[in-house]
Amino acid sequence: MSTRRMDDTGLDRIAQFARQEIGPYLAAHPEDRYPLPLVRQLAQLGAFGAAVPTQYGGGDWSRRDLALIGYELGRGWQPLAALVGTHLKLCRQVTQHGTPRQRERWLDAMARGESVFARAYHEQGIGHPSQLGTRATRRGRAAVLNGRKSWVTNARNADRVLAIARGDNATMGVLVDPARPGVTVGPELPRPGLLGVSLAEITFDDYEFDPEEDVLGGWGHDLTASLLAHDVTSYTARAVGSADAVLEHAVRFVRDGLAHRPADVQGAIRLRTGELAAKVAVMRTVWRALLDPRPPEDGTSPGAPNPPMTSAVAKVFCTTTLLDVLREAAALCGGAGYAAADHALGRHYRDALALPIIGAPNDVLLSRIGEHELGADRSSGPVPDPYPDR
Ligand SMILES: Cc1cc2nc3c(=O)[nH]c(=O)nc-3n(C[C@H](O)[C@H](O)[C@H](O)COP(=O)(O)OP(=O)(O)OC[C@H]3O[C@@H](n4cnc5c(N)ncnc54)[C@H](O)[C@@H]3O)c2cc1C
Repeated sequence: MSTRRMDDTGLDRIAQFARQEIGPYLAAHPEDRYPLPLVRQLAQLGAFGAAVPTQYGGGDWSRRDLALIGYELGRGWQPLAALVGTHLKLCRQVTQHGTPRQRERWLDAMARGESVFARAYHEQGIGHPSQLGTRATRRGRAAVLNGRKSWVTNARNADRVLAIARGDNATMGVLVDPARPGVTVGPELPRPGLLGVSLAEITFDDYEFDPEEDVLGGWGHDLTASLLAHDVTSYTARAVGSADAVLEHAVRFVRDGLAHRPADVQGAIRLRTGELAAKVAVMRTVWRALLDPRPPEDGTSPGAPNPPMTSAVAKVFCTTTLLDVLREAAALCGGAGYAAADHALGRHYRDALALPIIGAPNDVLLSRIGEHELGADRSSGPVPDPYPDR
């Protein structure tokens, strides 16, 4: 995990970009077009190198600052947060699991945004890496990849795809060049939101690769533990960013028309606005508790449990509360909450629908939280985070 505290100017620049550039871009371009100019700007701002160690040309930003990128992009436009978030996750994987040669080969280009990576892991209905149908098989001195991945974010524009496949004794990550024979990117998957950045199936049909150079960590390097450690902090950051943007939008709308309303209606609208603001404030608090955990209790005072928040609990709470926030904000805006020239609210709503599902479905996280609670001896001290981010 990165440890360096990013200088405020770097984060300020990304925040400024997200708040000033994305809105006008979306007003001028179709929402379903790949936002190449925005991706290039993010690369210039160093966003793609944020999780790369400095020795490979990256920024080595802290976990907190990486989450703040997710917050700002989630506030601006979720597909960009998805593209950058996936790439950052893969930067961490190459750093942690890559051979020295692979780190030299890839991290520098990844940090500059010249090699943007996508991740092909999920196959519909498969809940454990050991059940994946995609296979990596040795064929003489080479190896081949066969299988189908159900959803790949940025499938069409990624320079490399890390495909997760089972070998005889390990679940491996194969660095795939999607331009080479043996890779088929399917048609764009129809969906209500998360447009702009592509989402498609990818099929591997006897894709030939070098078993040492192209397998993360070398042939036989097993990624199972890393795949099971659900890294869900970024989804919380995105949900809180979106909620803040939605609250801001609703407050601006309501404030503009409030004075013309009868006194009793003004009171009702104030109450609803207060309710909305309170929900968003709790989301922010949950997120802060996740990012800035307090030091362990010394056991002398009862205090709140430590750590006060796990990444799984925060993801479930913030992604579901965001949907409430969006419904309430839309109601406050009346007809304009559903149909208006500025369709930002609708876009946030459509994008937010995916957040409880992606990464790890909220139901899966809730089942594990319940399992942990029922199995843990709560009297023996703080409950550890069972889903640490890797
Ligand atoms: C917009 C979008 C982008 C995506 N991008 C990528 C990507 O870039 N790379 C990638 O690899 N994948 C990606 N995915 C895949 C995504 O991560 C999966 O869809 C998600 O993990 C759910 O898997 P599934 O659809 O197979 O659901 P299933 O595993 O079939 O689960 C469906 C439902 O069954 C129930 N359920 C299943 N298992 C349990 C359990 N253990 N406990 C309790 N309930 C359970 C839950 O209600 C769950 O929501 C993307 C998906 C979407 C929609």
